[in-house]
Amino acid sequence: MMESCYCGRSGELEDRKVVVDAARKEALACRMCGHTDDLEWLQPGLRAEIFAAARNRGQQTTQVQVAA
Ligand SMILES: [Zn+2]
Repeated sequence: MMESCYCGRSGELEDRKVVVDAARKEALACRMCGHTDDLEWLQPGLRAEIFAAARNRGQQTTQVQVAA
């Protein structure tokens, strides 16, 4: 799913970083400006899918950094 941020970044929602916000709710943070979006505007099922995909990508990124 493509999205664009206030900072001008555009890309896939799944490329954002999974964080926990002040309300202890999962959110996705923009990698450029740190803006978080809790995706409450998405359908619950779709929201869960996006978070799962973002988590998977985060793990892949970590593995690449470790290997390098
Ligand atoms: Zn941003």
